[in-house]
Order: sequence, then C-alpha cells, then structure tokens
Amino acid sequence: MGVSENIKHFLSTEIPSNVKLIAVSKTKPIELIEEAYQSGHRIYGENKAQELAGKHEALPKDIEWHMIGHMQTNKVKYIAPFVSLIHGVDSFKLLKVINKEGEKSNRKINCLLQFHIATEETKFGLDLNEAIEFIKSEDFQSLKNVNLCGVMGMATYTENEDAIRSEFKELVHIFNELKQSYLTDSDFKEISMGMSGDYKIAIEEGATMVRIGSLLFGARNYNK
Ligand SMILES: *Cc1c(COP(=O)(O)O)cnc(C)c1O
Repeated sequence: MGVSENIKHFLSTEIPSNVKLIAVSKTKPIELIEEAYQSGHRIYGENKAQELAGKHEALPKDIEWHMIGHMQTNKVKYIAPFVSLIHGVDSFKLLKVINKEGEKSNRKINCLLQFHIATEETKFGLDLNEAIEFIKSEDFQSLKNVNLCGVMGMATYTENEDAIRSEFKELVHIFNELKQSYLTDSDFKEISMGMSGDYKIAIEEGATMVRIGSLLFGARNYNK
C-alpha cells in the first residue's frame, strides 16, 4: 500500500472520529508528503523548526502544520507566522518567546504544555507544580498571543503496556487538575499522546490527538 492508502485505511480502522491524527512526516521528503496529501489528510507534524518551515513553503497552504518536537527558543521565529499548534511547550520561558513571536505575526499561537510522564530522563517536559506556579503568575495572565489548548506527553519506550498505560493516566490526571482549577476555558481541551507503538493504549486512556509517523510513512533512516 502507498502512503495515501495507508492513511485512509488507518483513519477508517484505527482512529475514532473524535481523535485527531497528526501524521508525523519528519525526515520524509516533500514528494512523499504530496502523496500523503492525496488521501485528503491535512494535518502533519514535524519535529524540527527549519524543516517544518521549508515544507510549509513547498507544500499546499491548506496543510495544518504541528510542531511536535523539542522547541528551541531561537527557532520559534521560523514557524510563528503559520504554525497551527506547538505541542512541546516545556518551559515558561519558551511560552513567553512564543507569545512575543505571536505578537510580531499578529497571531494567537496555539500551544500544548508538555509534561514529563516517562521514566526516561532524556525526555522533556514540565511537572504539574512547575506549570501551576507559572500559570498563577501575573506574567502569565499578560500573555495575549498564546492560547493554551491542552497537554502533551510521551510515554516510556517499553514493551510494558501497564507502565505505558499508567503514564498516560498520569497525563490525563494532570490535564484534569489544570482544567478544573486553572485553565477552565473551553479552548483547553486537547490531550496529545500516543505514537506508532502505543496509540491504542493512548486512545483507550482518552487521547484527543495521536502523533503517528512510522506506521504511516514507513520506518525512518535514523534511530529515534
Ligand atoms: C517522531 C515522533 C512521533 C511519531 O513517532 P512514530 O513512532 O514514528 O509514530 C510522535 N511524537 C513525537 C514527539 C515524535 O518526535
């Protein structure tokens, strides 16, 4: 099956209609994304700002681009004018930079707060107290060009499904805490969790967005 058929098949058999599929096209060439685009799917994710900006430039403008990777503050400017959602906001400093770039582009940039739910030290993310601390600050209230839409997390890379499930439960718990007490507005509603290896568990636990790369586009040529 080609990538376009892959996406159609995956959407119709694996993804409930209330869950958004972010097709992760990182490292894949423009031609392959053009092929994927033939499926009708319009939401794609990349993890490097410059690669994302280049693909935005080269591809049809009705694609919704999601930045799913670790975001460096000095790279926000490359994607601020058009990005649909930044999944990996893992510091208040980064959120403030995104706000500033949003101001320059005259946009309100949609963001998810990334939480550290895995046991691996190498993965990025906030913890709940850290997030609550800045959300309560006056500084936070003054940010007019960012829109917090929910949370994102990555589970540990393991075969242990119980461990993965409990990490996703932790993310849902964090989401509920923030939603009930601090971010009560209706835009705060997304839970981005689940990749090729663990999306089924993520959907069972309440994901509203899954980020799937290799299952749709084939394996990538590097270890990640
Ligand atoms: C690469 C990546 C994905 C997709 O990974 P697959 O295992 O190929 O589905 C999802 N989320 C993030 C943050 C990634 O970097």
